[in-house]
Amino acid sequence: MKILIIIGLLFFAFYNPQDPEDKTNVEKKKEVAVEPEPKPFPARKRFFTTRNVPVVNNFDMKDAYGQIISRCRTPQLDNQRMTNAHESTHFIHSQLRNDDVLSHRVKTFPGAFYIFPDKSFHIEQPKFLRKEIERYIPASLRFSRFNTYFGKNKSWAEYPLYIIDEFVSYINGSIVALDDHKNGQRVDSLDPMVGPIEFAVYSVATCMAIKDLDPEYWNNQEFQDFMYDTMKKSESIFKAGRNIYPHKNQEEILTNLKTSPDAENIRAFMKEHFDSFFLSID
Ligand SMILES: [Zn+2]
Repeated sequence: MKILIIIGLLFFAFYNPQDPEDKTNVEKKKEVAVEPEPKPFPARKRFFTTRNVPVVNNFDMKDAYGQIISRCRTPQLDNQRMTNAHESTHFIHSQLRNDDVLSHRVKTFPGAFYIFPDKSFHIEQPKFLRKEIERYIPASLRFSRFNTYFGKNKSWAEYPLYIIDEFVSYINGSIVALDDHKNGQRVDSLDPMVGPIEFAVYSVATCMAIKDLDPEYWNNQEFQDFMYDTMKKSESIFKAGRNIYPHKNQEEILTNLKTSPDAENIRAFMKEHFDSFFLSID
């Protein structure tokens, strides 16, 4: 009996009933304590396959203008220099596409883009009509070039990447305008920096249409990386030239892109896929 009493006393001495509420609190505290801080994703290296664009004539290559013209078999030379650079970029695209078709590298009519100064990117067209892009461009972002390339303009109806063809050509024209300014060369154009921002908007709309209408095409990471690189280049040219070549349209496009309620979808897409290029410019 004595033994039983001793065991009983020992039991109560060492038994420590846990209050269920206390236990929950401990667990709660634990949960809060081990909550990990979200780690920022490291910037992914962008990659897309390029080819070299060879020099095809003896044009003087001393500046950006010369770099472009010397790679064009049939350069345009009879206009102001940045326009010649723009048009000659179209001609380079055309010669790259024709070479692709003639060499049987592609089955369908391809897209080919000259990346200043000496590379190119090649990809087939997405499967929808170019006019589908229009509805992704809100009213507040339809500017002077909209009617030239959308609306009644039905040319290149089956080639949505025609918009990117223009984007790259405007970028190359603006590269020449900046380079000529740096070299003390006169630039006659009234709005050399409007093209890169106006076509950045139309190109984002093109990507939005691709993602919706040809998702398999959009999943091509090389296309996304090419577009990322082109958007980045366009923003840096715009930032460098915005005050050298001021224009009311470029300011209006930037303001509307950043603040217009009808541009919300475009902004969301740019945040998701294009690191908020343009949106973070003051
Ligand atoms: Zn053009």
